Amino acid sequence: MKGKHFINGQWIESGDGVIDVYNPANGELVGTVPNGGEEEATRAIEAAAAAFPEWSAKTVYERAEILMKWHDLLLEHKEDLGKTLTTEMGKPLKEAIGEIQYSASFISWFAEEAKRSYGRLVPASAPDKRIQVLKQPVGVVVSITPWNFPAAMIARKMAPALAAGCTFVSKPAEQTPLTAVRLFELAEEAGVPKGVINLVTGDAKGIGGVFTSHPSVRKLTFTGSTEVGKILMKQGADRMLNLSLELGGQAPMIVLDDADIDKAVEGVVASKFRNAGQTCVCGNRIFVQRSILETFTEKLKEATTKLKVGNGLTEDVNIGPLIDKDGYEKVQRHVNDAVEKGATVLTGGEGQVNGDAYFFQPTVLANANTDMLVMNEETFGPVAPIMVFDEDHEAVRLANDTRFGLAAYFFTENLSRGNAIMEGLDYGIIGWNDGAPSVAQAPFGGMKESGLGREGGVEGLEAFLETKYVSIKM
Ligand code: ADP
Repeated sequence: MKGKHFINGQWIESGDGVIDVYNPANGELVGTVPNGGEEEATRAIEAAAAAFPEWSAKTVYERAEILMKWHDLLLEHKEDLGKTLTTEMGKPLKEAIGEIQYSASFISWFAEEAKRSYGRLVPASAPDKRIQVLKQPVGVVVSITPWNFPAAMIARKMAPALAAGCTFVSKPAEQTPLTAVRLFELAEEAGVPKGVINLVTGDAKGIGGVFTSHPSVRKLTFTGSTEVGKILMKQGADRMLNLSLELGGQAPMIVLDDADIDKAVEGVVASKFRNAGQTCVCGNRIFVQRSILETFTEKLKEATTKLKVGNGLTEDVNIGPLIDKDGYEKVQRHVNDAVEKGATVLTGGEGQVNGDAYFFQPTVLANANTDMLVMNEETFGPVAPIMVFDEDHEAVRLANDTRFGLAAYFFTENLSRGNAIMEGLDYGIIGWNDGAPSVAQAPFGGMKESGLGREGGVEGLEAFLETKYVSIKM
C-alpha cells in the first residue's frame, strides 16, 4: 500500500523520500508513506484555517450527517480496515476489528453529542443587562497519535473536533500510518469538504515544531509518551497553546480478599494482555491480598498459559508481536531485572525473535516488589507482576505511589470497601471489577503526569469548544 498526504482535499506525495512501514509479525515491508515535514505541515494547517469559516458555520446537524456517513463506512469496511491495522501494528485481527468498531462508536457519540453543545442564559445583577454564555469551536486543531491504536486514537480526536466545528490536521505514528490513510479515504468518501481534514506523515519533530508554533493552530491534541507530551507542552507554552494530553500510565490492579476470583482473573487478563500489553491503561502492577494470593496466582497462571502467541492474522491468536525491537528489549529488561531482584517466573518469561519480528510469551511473575523496574515503569508488554499486600489502605498507598494517574482497577464484591478504595485512588479512570472500562460516552484521561484533559463523554466535546461570555446592556 502506498499512502500519501491528504492536504486541502488532494492526495499528494511530497517530502524527503518515504517512510517504510513493516509488518511487526514477520518484518515484511507492507507499504510506504511520504516523509513529509515542516512544509507539508504548514500547507495542511493553512488549508485547515481556510476551511474553518465555512465548516464552523454549518449547522451541527449538517456536520453530524457527514460524520454518521463516515461512521457507517467504517463499519462497512471494518474487516479490511482491521486487516490493514493488524498488518502494520500486529494486534490480533479480532482486536483490530474491535478497534474499528470502537472508533466508529466515538464518531456516532460525538455526532449526537455536539447537538447538545448548549450555552446558557444567566440572571444578571442589573435590570438592563443580559448574560449569555455560548460555546464555539476552538478553531484549527492539530493531532499527534501513537501506534498502539492506529484508528481509535485518531477517531476519538477527529470526531469531536469535526462535530464541534473545528478543522483538523493529523500526524499519525510513523509505524502505523496506513490505517490513518484508510480512515481519511473513508472520511473523504463520506463527504467531508476539502481542507476540513488533513493528513501529514513524516518527520515527527519537524511536523511537531510547526504544529506548536504556527499562529493559525488553536489546539493540540496528543496521545503518546509523557516525555514527548512534556516537549510539546513546552513548545506550545509561548503561544499558550490549548492542549489535551493523553500520556503514559502505570496502572495498578488491586485484588481484595472478598473478590470474585474468577471475575478478577478475567479482568486482569483482559486489561493486562490486550494488545500484548501495549496500551496506556494496561494493568502493570498487580496487588493481591495475602489470604487469596495462592488461589488467585494459580488461576491467573492457568488462564495466561492458555493464551496463544503468533501472527495476529492467524485465527485463535490472542497475543501478537511487540511493535519493534526497542519494545521487545524493554520487556526483556523488565523481566530480567525482576528475576534478579527475587521474582519467580510462573509462566512465560521468554521472548521469541524471528528475524525482525519480536514476540513475547505472556508472563506471570510472583514475589514482585517495589524495587523492580516492572513495578515502577510502564512495561508495555505482556508481563503480570504480582505483589502481596495485607491491608486495604496499604494497597491504595502502593497504587498511588507513582507519578502517573491514568487507569486503576480493583476487584471486590464489598460495596463499602470498594467505595473507600475508589475514592482513595488518584486516577482518572477506575475499573471496579472491570478490566475494560473505555467507552465513547465516558471521559477518558489521567491525573498527574498522565496528562491533561479528557477524551470521550461530554468532556471530550468540551475539549474542542471555547466558552464565550457576552454581557449585553440594553
Ligand atoms: P510511543 O512510545 O508510543 O511511540 P511517542 O510519544 O514517542 O510514544 O510517540 C507518539 C507520537 O508522538 C508519534 O506520532 C510520534 O511520531 C510523535 N512524536 C515523537 N516525538 C515527537 C516530537 N518531538 N514532536 C512531535 N511529535 C513527536
